Amino acid sequence: MNKDEAEVRIAKLRKEIARYRYQYHVLNKLEISEAALDALKHELYKLEEQYPDLITPDSPTQRVAGGVAKGFKKVKHDVPMLSLEDAFNREEADAWLERAKKLRPRAQFEFYAEVKMDGLAISVIYEDGAMKRAATRGDGRVGEEVIRGVRTIESLPLHLRVPKDSEIEHFLKKHKGHMDEKKVVRTLTVHSGRIEARGEVYMLKKQLEKLNKDLKARGKPLLANPRNAAAGAIRQLDPKIAAERGLSFMGWQILGDLGVTTHAQGLEMMALLGIPINESNRLCANLDEVEKFQKSIGDKRDKLPFQIDGIVIKVNDSVLFDSLGVVGKTPRAAVAWKYAAEQGTTIVRDIHISVGRTGALTPVAVMDPVQLAGTTVTHASLHNEDEIRRLGLKIGDTVILEKAGDIIPKIIKVLPKLRAKNSKEFRMPHKCPMCGSDVKRREGEVATVCANKHCFAQELAHLQYFVGRTNFDIRGVGSKIAEQLLQNGLVSEPADLWKLKSVDLLSLEGFAEVSAQKLVDEIQAHKKIALDRFINSLGIRHVGEETARDLASAFGSFSAFRKATPEELDSVDGIGESAVESIRSYFEDKRTADKVDHLLDVVEVETMKKKAPGKFAGTSWVLTGSLESMSRDEAKQKIRNLGGEISSSVSKKTSYVIVGENPGSKFDKAKKLGVPTLNENEFLKKLS
Ligand SMILES: [Zn+2]
Repeated sequence: MNKDEAEVRIAKLRKEIARYRYQYHVLNKLEISEAALDALKHELYKLEEQYPDLITPDSPTQRVAGGVAKGFKKVKHDVPMLSLEDAFNREEADAWLERAKKLRPRAQFEFYAEVKMDGLAISVIYEDGAMKRAATRGDGRVGEEVIRGVRTIESLPLHLRVPKDSEIEHFLKKHKGHMDEKKVVRTLTVHSGRIEARGEVYMLKKQLEKLNKDLKARGKPLLANPRNAAAGAIRQLDPKIAAERGLSFMGWQILGDLGVTTHAQGLEMMALLGIPINESNRLCANLDEVEKFQKSIGDKRDKLPFQIDGIVIKVNDSVLFDSLGVVGKTPRAAVAWKYAAEQGTTIVRDIHISVGRTGALTPVAVMDPVQLAGTTVTHASLHNEDEIRRLGLKIGDTVILEKAGDIIPKIIKVLPKLRAKNSKEFRMPHKCPMCGSDVKRREGEVATVCANKHCFAQELAHLQYFVGRTNFDIRGVGSKIAEQLLQNGLVSEPADLWKLKSVDLLSLEGFAEVSAQKLVDEIQAHKKIALDRFINSLGIRHVGEETARDLASAFGSFSAFRKATPEELDSVDGIGESAVESIRSYFEDKRTADKVDHLLDVVEVETMKKKAPGKFAGTSWVLTGSLESMSRDEAKQKIRNLGGEISSSVSKKTSYVIVGENPGSKFDKAKKLGVPTLNENEFLKKLS
C-alpha cells in the first residue's frame, strides 16, 4: 500500500474504530466482536508504524490505556504495574527466551507458567494483614482507587489468613534452604508491614449469563463479555451494584519483604494467606514443558468456568527476574503466550471459482493472510452466489473472518464503511473455469453447476496425470491433496501449482508449516522439464509417451512443435492422422491454449536435439506402378522417415522416380525430363 492509499485507509479505520467505541462505551452495545475490533486497531497500528508522519494525536492508537476516570481517587503504584509482551506461537516464545538468555548467558532458567485470566488487573494492599487499599492498573503508574468494589469480592480476604502450623511446616520443609525462613514465618503469622497482592478480578461465565438474563428482563442493555462486566462492576461507584455482579479474584503476584526467593514460592504463600491462585499453574524446567502446559490449558479452555486469553510465562527466580529489567513498559522476564483470536479482519483481494466433485461452482474468497485460532488463513469458501449477495460482499472489501477450533474459516460480516473506491462487484461466470462448458443454475437451487458431468473427475484425473512419474514427477500430490487443491480453488489449472505458497496449503486438511513448505519446495524443484515429458503432460488425446518422444525429437523445441502444420506433423514418424487432428484441435481451443501459455510462464521446457536429418533430406520422390515388397503407402512412409519428400507429379525438381510394375505416364515424363529412375531393387538398396 502506498502512502496515499495508506492515508485513505487510516482515515477510514479511525472513523470506524471511533464509531464502534462510541457504540460500546456509550450505547453499551457492540456490533462486532472485540477480537474484530482489535484486528482493526492492529491494522491501523501497523499502517501508522509504516507511515509515522500520518500519526495524529487523536488516533485511537495514541490513547493511553486505562487512565483515571472522573469520580475516582488517584493511587500511585509503588512498584509500577507493567504490561506484558505478547507471543502467539512457540517461535515467538523461543525468541523471547533467546533475548533473555543473551543478557544472562550463564543463568539457569526455570519457568512458572500461569493461566492468564481475561479480567481486570487489580492491586490490593494489606497493612498488618488488613485490606487497606485497592487500585486498578490505570496507566501502570497511577490507577483508580476501587476498594469499595473490591471489598465486595467474596474470594478476597478482608484480613489475611493465618495458616495452620502444619501448613507452615510443610511449606518450610518443601523449600528448605531456598527461603529466608524467619521472614517467611513472620509474613505468614503476623503479616506485619505491607503486603501487596496483585491479580485479576473476573466474572464467571455463568455469572455473566445470569446477569444478562436479569438485565434482559429489566429491558436493560446486555453486557458483552465477562471481562468488561468485571471491569464495569469494579468501577461502579455504588458498591451494591458491584456486589450484585458476583466478582471473583485470582492472584498472580505478591510483593513485600516476604522472605521468598521465587515466583512459585510467592504464589504458594499467597494461597496460604487466603488469596486464591489458579490451581493449574505449573513450574516448568524448559519451554517444551511450557508448551505442553499451554496446549493442555488451551484444550480445556472452552470448558473452564471463566474466560482466559492465554498463559503467562515468568522466570521463576526472583533475583534473575529483577536483574533482567524492563524494556519500555514490559518486564523482560515475563511474556504472555496468547491464544490466537478466533475472529479477525482482512481484505478480500479476489474471488476464485472452484469446481467440486458434483460440478458445483463455488466462489472462494482469496484474502490477505490472517492469523485465526492459531492458523494462517488465506481462503474462505463463500458457498454460492446468494451468500455473496447476503453478505453484500464486493472484491476489495474488508471483512470479519471467524474460525473457531477445527471449524473452517467463514466470512461472517462485511464492513462496508471501510470499502475502497475501486471495489468490484462479483459476477458468477457463464462458463465453467475448469472445462469451459456452459454453467446452469436450476430454479429454486442455490448452486451453479457445470453442465459437463465429467468435469471435476476429468480435471482431477488430469492433475494427477500431470504430476505423475512420466510427466512432472512431483511427489506429494496424491488424490486426496489434488482433490482438495481443486475443491478449494487453489489450483484450477496445472500452472497454478507453481503459484502455491505454503500459507495457502495451511488451510487444507493435514498440512502443517513443515509439510506445506515441503510440498511447495518439491513443486518449485520441478520447474524444468524435458520436451517429451512436457508434451506428454498436456494430456492431448492420442499423444502418449511414445508419440510425445517422436514429436519432441522431430521438432526439437516446444514452439516449433506448436507451430507445426498438419503436414509437418503428419510427416513425423509414428504420428497417425488421429494424433495430428487432436494436436490441431488442442491448440486451436483457446482455453487449452491459454493453459499452455500459463504453464510456459512458470515452467522451463528444455529443448531437444532434433533427430539428425535423414539421408533422403532435401530430396523429392515420385512413385509410379506397384511394388512387390511393400505397398505404395509404406514406401512413402519409409522415404519420409529418412527425410525425403513425396510429390505426386514429376518435374525438373524431382530427385528420383520409383518405377514399379505397370508404371503410368509419370515414367514417360521422367525419361523426357531426364530424371533418374529406380526400380524396386535399386530403391531397396538405397533404403538400406
Ligand atoms: Zn466444467
